[in-house]
Formats: sequence, C-alpha cells, structure tokens
Amino acid sequence: MLKGVDIGGTFIKVLWEDGRTEKHLIKDIKKDRDAFLKKVREVVLSGEPEGVGIAVAGFTSREGKVFKSPNIPSLDGVDFGELFKGKGVEIAVGNDVTLAAFGEWFFDYRESEVLLLIAVGTGLGGGLVLGGEPFFGVCGSALEAGHHIVLKGGFPCNCGRLGCWEAYCSSYGLQRTYRELGGEDLSDHEIVRRAKGGERTALRAVDSFKEFLSLGLMNMVHIFNPDTIVLGGGLIDSMLFALGDLEDKVRKLSEALPASCLRLRFSKAGEFLGARGALAYIRRVMNRY
Ligand SMILES: [Zn+2]
Repeated sequence: MLKGVDIGGTFIKVLWEDGRTEKHLIKDIKKDRDAFLKKVREVVLSGEPEGVGIAVAGFTSREGKVFKSPNIPSLDGVDFGELFKGKGVEIAVGNDVTLAAFGEWFFDYRESEVLLLIAVGTGLGGGLVLGGEPFFGVCGSALEAGHHIVLKGGFPCNCGRLGCWEAYCSSYGLQRTYRELGGEDLSDHEIVRRAKGGERTALRAVDSFKEFLSLGLMNMVHIFNPDTIVLGGGLIDSMLFALGDLEDKVRKLSEALPASCLRLRFSKAGEFLGARGALAYIRRVMNRY
C-alpha cells in the first residue's frame, strides 16, 4: 500500500491509497529537531507502506534535500534520501504545492495540458503540471509564484522582500490589509467570519485580497497560458463565498487569446491537498497510474 505524507507547519497529514487519513499535531515539537525528525520517521514508516510520497513546505531539491523551510526550520538541511536509506521503502519527495498541482492533474484534470495550482493559506505557493508531468525547474524550486512582486515597495513579505504577491494574498497579508484599513489585529479566520457577517472593514479587506489575487493570476495567465488554474489552500477554501466572480475578473484583466483558453476551478482536495499530491506523485514514481 502507498501513502502520501504532507509535512506542514502545524500538522503532518497522511492520505493512504485506500482513502484513510491521519493528522498528527507537530506544532509543539517542530522546533526540537531530534523530536521532530523522530516523529517524521515514525509517521512515514508506520503501517509498513511500500512507498511514500512526501510533500514538504519549502525549497526542496529534486533528490529530496530540503534547503530552506521558512515555516519549519527543523527541516533545513534534512536529506530525505539519507533519512530513509535502507528502510525498504520507496520515497519520493517534492515541494508541497508542486506535488499538490500534480495531485490535481492526477485525480481531477487529466485532460489538462498546462495546469497551474495556486494555493493560499499561511503563505502563497504555486505548482505547474505540463503534459501530465510536474514541473520542478532545474533545482526543484520552480513556481515560487508567491514571491513575484505585484507592488514595488509594498507590504513586507516573509521572504524579506517588499510587495510580493504573498504579502497581500496570504493569512498574514489579509491580517495586515485589515489593520491598514483601520481594523484590529485579528486572525484571518475572524476577518473572513466578519466579512461573511457583512462587517464593512472586513469586506473591504476581502475585496483588496481579491484585487491582488486577480492581478497575480493575470500575470500567471500571461506567462503560462494555462488551460486550467486551480485555486486551493485553507484561506481560499474559507473565502469561496466571495470568489464566485473571480474567473470573470481574471478573464477581463487578461489578454483575449489566453483568456479564451482558460478555466478557473477550486480544488476539491480540502485540507489534504498536499498529502493527495504526495500520494499521486509516489503512484507516478512507482508506475501505478
Ligand atoms: Zn516574498
């Protein structure tokens, strides 16, 4: 049996081939490198899988070495190939959103030639699938779309730059926008909840989020000319009430030719987006299409 494992900042999530899921809370141990890696080993090997796909939030080489994981510093420098050498299990590792994009293609959009996934939650990540193959780039770090700049000198981003797409379209981006509009320091969930309830400032923050989301998506449409853009991630899932006209907005902003080929969809994977991608990827690596 195969499984997909998604190592995030708060949970390690697992999706087995037969549909079973697991969630392991790691928030409290993620700063203790030894305890954290022990937990990762346990979760990956438990249930004696034949193969495991591992999705990692961070810059990950094609051979499975993590160069930098801004949200999970204990992963910095971890070499997954080494970690599971001689354990009798096939391992395939990749960036979480790249694998999640492959999961979208694998489970829902196999007819797509150019599929782009944009996932918005704590941060903003992108993944691209070309002709049914995940696109990693040369080093494995392609589609860091969150760090393309949409406003010179704009909001500070977690990467250290100013005005990145993620600085506006992410949990912390929405929180900052809400504060700039005169609101209090609230969680993204609370802001979305208030917007649903009709609070003016929250609605304006959500509108601003949508403006930046559409602008960045227009850039993506012009650069990649995709037939399918899938939006996913926790913040998108919670904001669906406000995003009904997004496809229309992006189409209107974009050039007519790429707009004519485009469809915009919302992921059905929910919180197992990364784990589902990791499962799809290990199935591909082991030829179980
Ligand atoms: Zn950035």
